Amino acid sequence: MKNIIFIAPPAAGKGTQSILLREKYNLAHISTGDLLREASLEDSERGQYILNCLKEGNLVSDDITIELLIERLSKDDCKNGYILDGFPRTVEQAIQYETILKDLNKELGVVIFLDIPKEIALKRIVGRQVCPSCGAVFNDQIDISKPKIQNICDICGHELQKRKDDNETTFNIRFETYMKKTEPLIKHYEELGVLYKINEVDKEKVFKQIEEIIK
Ligand code: ADP
Repeated sequence: MKNIIFIAPPAAGKGTQSILLREKYNLAHISTGDLLREASLEDSERGQYILNCLKEGNLVSDDITIELLIERLSKDDCKNGYILDGFPRTVEQAIQYETILKDLNKELGVVIFLDIPKEIALKRIVGRQVCPSCGAVFNDQIDISKPKIQNICDICGHELQKRKDDNETTFNIRFETYMKKTEPLIKHYEELGVLYKINEVDKEKVFKQIEEIIK
């Protein structure tokens, strides 16, 4: 199975689609946001630095992000293919990633750009609830995305949490960073001939389009 890279503004559905793909195609799901959230709990200077970046909505340094990524890519579950959710986020990261792929003898695969309007992204952020155990995403302010039981994950029964960076102020910083640093990646991957664009908000329709791309 081909590796997949998602490029998208915050709350465009990268995480949701990654989980659907993981379940159906047995792909490893690598979310750099999740790797960094875990590393931010370490009682160290590095943990504190990461925590501050996450709280403020700023990107973490390439060195730290890439170190965590390489460690994750070496795990066995990546052999069957993997999804990168949140990486690369800058053209510099994309260029470094191309060297890493050569070193690890892995393929780039396909790059999928999920585009959604800023207003919809904001609405999703404000009510977003995530399952810390299986990664499933719900929304307590959007009827079709509410969990069946309030605050409980439909999939694994774990209590749902709100991310500390899911508020309007941090969202605006994250969105701005996305426009400035991540959007230029679209041209980079277009030039490599590996970019596919999806302009749809409905979760099932997005998933169908992704399946068409990876078939
Ligand atoms: P979202 O896409 O909704 O912003 P993520 O979980 O992908 O959520 O990212 C959360 C935060 O983690 C980002 O705001 C940033 O601080 C950090 N982060 C994630 N991926 C990267 C990356 N590739 N490079 C630097 N920082 C990152």
